[in-house]
Amino acid sequence: KGVKKYFPITGGILQKTVGYVKAVDGVDMFIKRGETLGLVGESGCGKSTLGRVILRLLDATEGEINYGGNNILKLKKEQMREMRKKMQIIFQDPYASLNPRMTIGDIIGEPMDIFGMAKGHEKEEKVLELLHVVGLGTQHIRRYPHEFSGGQRQRIGIARALAVDPELIICDEPVSALDVSVRSQVLNLMQELQEKFSLTYLFISHDLSVVKHISDRVSVMYLGKVVEIAEKNELYDKPLHPYTRALLSAIPIPDPEVKRERIILEGDVPSPVNPPSGCHFHTRCKYAKPECSKIEPELKDVGSEHFVACHLY
Ligand code: SF4
Ligand code: MG
Repeated sequence: KGVKKYFPITGGILQKTVGYVKAVDGVDMFIKRGETLGLVGESGCGKSTLGRVILRLLDATEGEINYGGNNILKLKKEQMREMRKKMQIIFQDPYASLNPRMTIGDIIGEPMDIFGMAKGHEKEEKVLELLHVVGLGTQHIRRYPHEFSGGQRQRIGIARALAVDPELIICDEPVSALDVSVRSQVLNLMQELQEKFSLTYLFISHDLSVVKHISDRVSVMYLGKVVEIAEKNELYDKPLHPYTRALLSAIPIPDPEVKRERIILEGDVPSPVNPPSGCHFHTRCKYAKPECSKIEPELKDVGSEHFVACHLY
């Protein structure tokens, strides 16, 4: 609710704060237990920052993050430790996030050490089981990350995230660095694991086709704000926000019978240091009215949980 994350910009010899990068600039949204909420937007729109703020890997500047009825921004250290177990993250680059000097057995077991969950034989059993559920042979337990392919390394990252029996996993571009040929294998695995362990996913990606494949609902971000959220088919078939329409018009349609106008956005994405007043999209929107630069549109439900932040609705 109203989540903001501003990064200070410092300058001068005194390193005074001279401004802020408004990476997340007032986001309202909810994630339902057991669903996959896709979070899309161009790079720099704040989606990764929002994912990290939800996990408290970064502290929010303002707002509330409620999880099961608790505002986690108000939790004390010990309570937050308990909460951390419930929320894990999978990163885009599985290689950079795996310690090259640790065996994959140690990598997958490490979160169990951190949270004091299992030791010795019990831990090894659990690691073997995790290797199995992510589709890696248990014989690999003493090998090192560099001995694996990109797809296998992402499976290791997933196994590590699962080690603490989480409820929510923030997936930050988990297949973007992978070859197209292994993407669907990893996505299918993630879907199987979601069923098996009743997981909830926030799936961050700039790839609209991937998001369409995996999500139940989709949330669209532009310049630090959520501009539209709807059930997946509703969003892809009936996008309302002019920005969502432009984004979706760029996806190729496999059926040559179906014609769709390609909407080209004029100009660059404005800087998040000085986002446009009113609707952040008004500088590029061909439907902009005078009020758009003055009044910020609220995210409104226009029917059956289709939310849009635009003065046209
Ligand atoms: Fe365009 Fe105005 Fe809607 Fe913003 S509020 S998307 S500028 S019509
Ligand atoms: Mg990112």
